[in-house]
Amino acid sequence: ERDALAAFKGIVPKLADGTVIEVAANIGSLEEIEAAQEAGAMGVGLFRTELLFMRHMHLPSEDMQAETYGALARAFAPHPVIVRTLDIGGDKPVAGVEFPDEENPFLGWRGIRMCLDRPDIFKRQLRALLRAGIHGNLKVMLPMVSDIGEVRRTKILIDECATELARESVPFTRFDLGVMIETPAAVLIAPMLAKEVSFFSIGTNDLTQYVMAADRLNPTVANLNDVTNPAVMAAIEMTVNAAKAAGIMVGMCGEAAGRPDLIPAFIRMGLTELSMSPASIPRAKKRIAELTAEAG
Ligand code: PEP
Ligand code: MG
Repeated sequence: ERDALAAFKGIVPKLADGTVIEVAANIGSLEEIEAAQEAGAMGVGLFRTELLFMRHMHLPSEDMQAETYGALARAFAPHPVIVRTLDIGGDKPVAGVEFPDEENPFLGWRGIRMCLDRPDIFKRQLRALLRAGIHGNLKVMLPMVSDIGEVRRTKILIDECATELARESVPFTRFDLGVMIETPAAVLIAPMLAKEVSFFSIGTNDLTQYVMAADRLNPTVANLNDVTNPAVMAAIEMTVNAAKAAGIMVGMCGEAAGRPDLIPAFIRMGLTELSMSPASIPRAKKRIAELTAEAG
């Protein structure tokens, strides 16, 4: 079975009409690059930057971040590498950030909310990403977006960073900006968000928890924490339709993206990028190839 799957590692999965489905990896450190490439990743659909911040006793410097994101972009060039800006909250503390005591950390000060309140931390990361862009096909996405203002304010910060780097004669290049769709609010304003950004990536782990109002870490409500619930599938389809109407790319980077039983439904909806843990990649590629064979 392993050998049978190995045959699919190197393929570029295409639909009957020629559309390429980008099968990418979710990773959180440079150490995982090799495993992702071995598995046949066509790029990185989600680079979680949390580990970089949680590993050390202090916040990572701009240089250290620029080096890390640059190495990542180089490793996969010309394929895209999507780096997610810092997505931490009270449940995942980081040295150098004072988190408030919260009754509901999953509904609290996390992701883009925290970053916008700490422009010192956020701008250091954005500057590092602008600098790293010269090394490959780097894209950036924002987690936990629930309001259009969060995207607009981030774009202003990116402009500020670019102006500063230019003034300092530091080489950089602009990146494509996207948002994760992982709150019901983001789904409901997806047509507006699509006018502000160049891609969506659906985060089904959080989207499921927030659509179903069921804590993703609470086993008592695990029955509700189900991506196949019609409410969650409807939210995914609404997001894809909004992206298609606006002509922007839409992918998925939650766990569901790697599920062979769901991949046919996602592809039928119109998703063109699926990002998953490296171990899921060969099987996902095989499933897409089967679909195309069936259609042909
Ligand atoms: C998600 O929420 O689906 C996701 C990909 O991000 P994380 O699991 O890191 O919250
Ligand atoms: Mg998430």
